[in-house]
Amino acid sequence: MTGDSASAQRDERPHVVIVGAGFGGLTAARQLRKAPVRVTLIDRRNYHLFQPLLYQVATAGLSPADIAAPIRHIVRSQANTSVLLGRVQSVDTARKLLKVDDREVGYDYLILATGAKHAYPNPDWEAFAPGLKSVDDATSMRARILLAFEQAEQAEDPAEQRRCLNFVIVGGGPTGVELAGAIAELARRVIAKDFRRIDTTTSRVVLLEGGPRILPALPENLSAYATRALAKLGVEVRTGDFVEEVDETGVAVGGARIESRTVLWAAGVRASEAHRWLDAESDRAGRILVGPDLSVPDHPDIFAVGDTAHVPWKDGQPIPGVAPAAKQMGIYAAKAIMARVAGRKPEAFRYKHAGNLATIGRSSAVIDFGWWRPKGFLAWLLWGLAHVYFLIGFRNKIAVMADWIWAYITFKKGMRLITGGPHK
Ligand SMILES: Cc1cc2nc3c(=O)[nH]c(=O)nc-3n(C[C@H](O)[C@H](O)[C@H](O)COP(=O)(O)OP(=O)(O)OC[C@H]3O[C@@H](n4cnc5c(N)ncnc54)[C@H](O)[C@@H]3O)c2cc1C
Repeated sequence: MTGDSASAQRDERPHVVIVGAGFGGLTAARQLRKAPVRVTLIDRRNYHLFQPLLYQVATAGLSPADIAAPIRHIVRSQANTSVLLGRVQSVDTARKLLKVDDREVGYDYLILATGAKHAYPNPDWEAFAPGLKSVDDATSMRARILLAFEQAEQAEDPAEQRRCLNFVIVGGGPTGVELAGAIAELARRVIAKDFRRIDTTTSRVVLLEGGPRILPALPENLSAYATRALAKLGVEVRTGDFVEEVDETGVAVGGARIESRTVLWAAGVRASEAHRWLDAESDRAGRILVGPDLSVPDHPDIFAVGDTAHVPWKDGQPIPGVAPAAKQMGIYAAKAIMARVAGRKPEAFRYKHAGNLATIGRSSAVIDFGWWRPKGFLAWLLWGLAHVYFLIGFRNKIAVMADWIWAYITFKKGMRLITGGPHK
C-alpha cells in the first residue's frame, strides 16, 4: 500500500473507504463517526452538491455556493474520518486496493456511492442538448439560456430570432418540469422589461415527454394538475412522442421539427462506472445488482449504495434514484459494516419511501406522500421547507431562504450571469 500514511498503517482499526461524498456516501461517513473504524472519504470534487436545487442555479434563481458545501468542512469534527480529493479509476479486489488518480489506497471495507450521469439514446446529442448533473452543467445551462435571449436581441433574421426564443426541454420527470416552469417564468416575468428589441414574453417553452404523461412516478391526477399549472405559466407540454433527432438548431419529434437554439436534456440517467471496476453484474442503466445487505455478490466487503445500486423494490422496479433512498442506503451500509466489525450478521436492507414531489414555477408544486397528496401553494411551501431543511450548512439555508423570499416578492432573479459556457 503506497498511498496511506505511516500513521494510518500503524492504526489497527478496520479501514472503511467510501467513494463519493454525495447523499449516500456522506450519510454513510456521518453514520460511522463514532464507530471503531478509520474512514477515508474520497470524491473527485471537494464539495457535496445538493442536486435537487441544481435547476435553480441553471435558471438564475440561486448561486452555486448556495447549494454546495466543502466536504472537509462537513466532516471536520469527525476525528476518525479523512477526506481525499481524487478520482477513483479502478478497484483491485484481490489486493483490496483502489487506484485513485496515480496513487493506491487500501481498504478493509468499501462503500461505492458514485451516483449517476446523463444518458442519451444517441451520444451525439449531448453536444446540442446538455443535461444537468453538476455545478458546471448548471452554470453552462444558465449561460445557454441567457445567451439565447441576448442572441435573439441581436438577430436580424426573424427566423433566427424565433429559434433563439424557443426553448425545448426533453424529459417530463421532476427535473424537466422544474426547468420548464422556471424558464417560462424567467421569460415572462423576470426579464420581460430588460430588452429593447425583443419581447421575451413571446418565448415558447416546450416540454417533451415520450411517455403518455409527465411525472409518471406521481398519480395521474397530480400529473394532470402539473400539466395545467405548466400551461398557466405558458409551457407547452407534448407527450407520447420520443425525440428522433437533436441538432444545433432544434429537435425532431413525432415527425415534426421544433426550431430551437436551446435544447435541454432531462430524459434519463445512467449509473457511474463503478460496475466496471468490479466487473459486477448490472442492469441496463449500469446499476450494480446488489444483495439484500447491499453488498456486491462475491465481494462481501464491498457495498454499493444510492444511484449506483440496483435494489429490487416493488412491481419489478428498483428503488428509485432519489436522495432519501441514497441516504437510507448509506446509513444501512455503515450499520452493516459496524455489525460485521462487531462479528454480527446485518439484517437485510429495507427501504421506506417518503414520497415523490415536483415544483412548478415559483408558487406551485405536487407531492405524493401516499397517504396525502397536496398540490398548489401548500405543496410548494412544504417543498421549499423540506429543501431548506435538508440543505447542508446554516449559511446555505439562510442564503437560499433569503433568495427565495426576495424572488417571491420582487419577481427578480439576481444570478443572471453568463459565465463559462458557449459564448467564449
Ligand atoms: C438535477 C437533479 C435533480 C434532482 N432532484 C431530486 C429531488 O428533487 N429529490 C430527490 O430526492 N432526488 C433528486 N435527484 C436525485 C438525487 O440527487 C440522487 O438520487 C442522489 O444524489 C443520489 O445520491 P448518490 O450518493 O447515489 O450520488 P450523488 O449524490 O450523485 O454523489 C455521487 C458522488 O460521487 C462522486 N464520484 C463519482 N464518480 C467518482 C469517482 N470515480 N471518483 C471519485 N468520486 C466520484 C461525485 O463527485 C459525487 O460527489 C436529482 C438529481 C438531479 C441530477
